[in-house]
Amino acid sequence: MAFSPLNWFLGLFSLDIGIDLGTANTLVYVRGKGIVINEPSWVAIDKKTRRPLAIGSEAKELVGRTPTNITAVRPLRDGVISEFEITQAMLGYFIDKAHEQSYVPIPRPRVVVGIPSGVTEVEKRAVYDATIAAGARDAFLIEEPMAAAIGAGLPIGEARGSMVLDIGGGTTEIAIFSMGGVVLSRSLRVAGDEMDEDIIQYARTKYNLAIGERMAERVKIDIGSAHSLSEEKSAVLRGRNLVTGLPDSVEVSSIEIRGALAESTRTLVDLVKEAIDETPPEIIADLMESGVCLAGGVSQLQGLADRMEDEINIECWVSDDPLTCVARGAGYILDDLDNLAKFLVGLERGSTQHT
Ligand code: ADP
Ligand code: MG
Repeated sequence: MAFSPLNWFLGLFSLDIGIDLGTANTLVYVRGKGIVINEPSWVAIDKKTRRPLAIGSEAKELVGRTPTNITAVRPLRDGVISEFEITQAMLGYFIDKAHEQSYVPIPRPRVVVGIPSGVTEVEKRAVYDATIAAGARDAFLIEEPMAAAIGAGLPIGEARGSMVLDIGGGTTEIAIFSMGGVVLSRSLRVAGDEMDEDIIQYARTKYNLAIGERMAERVKIDIGSAHSLSEEKSAVLRGRNLVTGLPDSVEVSSIEIRGALAESTRTLVDLVKEAIDETPPEIIADLMESGVCLAGGVSQLQGLADRMEDEINIECWVSDDPLTCVARGAGYILDDLDNLAKFLVGLERGSTQHT
């Protein structure tokens, strides 16, 4: 990285920001302050002009309740950037909001953005451009599993192998690291959203009850599980009865919901099994000591870590604060850019990144 006196000088005052551009939640970490923004990755737009009208929590509030000329979208739903302008508006809103929170007029921030692994060159470029367009002085990209591992404090720079499984809303990512590099990585579009969908389908087929996404998500968080619970629980599903057309509610047990989620949890377990199957034996030996680190919102699903552990015979542990790992990890990179730049994603031709 070439030394620039101007950048060095600005660096003394400017904000360093790590952003987790998640499919479900966007988090912003500011060095010295911690997580300053944690909002859903939702944007409400005017259907005709596609102009953003509300972003974050305000937009999520509108889901399922919008008037006909407004629609609420998740621009990153499957871990890819489907609508560049909407993503840019969202990034701009969050960067501005983080910037506004400082009391003195300071130069534009340096920003590290976590992106799903396996996104295309075009998508990487789109996030980079969106970050610069959104007001960053310098933008860098990092693959989410790498950021999650750094945020969780895994020793990814060491020769010892370590593994992270990040289960978010739209995507699940698994990665095994050794000596600062990725030994193996996989990603899958089965994660929290798919589980919500499982619950919606279950209510429909078993009880003729149409429920919304937010109701399904609430039940998943309250009583969803991947392993039998010491005390089984129950919850009430509310929606519209598909036979009578009238409002209706039913009480469901955690056993039923576990059954509804079984296929998705099976898929996640199989993903980990396959990854282990392809891992070199030396690294498996390391993993038997260090375990598998779970991150992302769904890592908190009750009994998931126990279930994984039973199936793969390696200890599975949920990282501290699993929802903020990626944002924190991305932010930490800027603490020591000279040494940690090797963990960033390079961009092809035309890049202005210092990697
Ligand atoms: P992303 O990185 O894709 O934005 P997150 O890591 O923020 O996703 O995780 C969001 C997902 O985690 C959502 O599907 C949400 O319902 C789920 N989630 C959050 N908390 C829990 C919980 N306690 N139990 C199960 N799922 C949870
Ligand atoms: Mg995530």
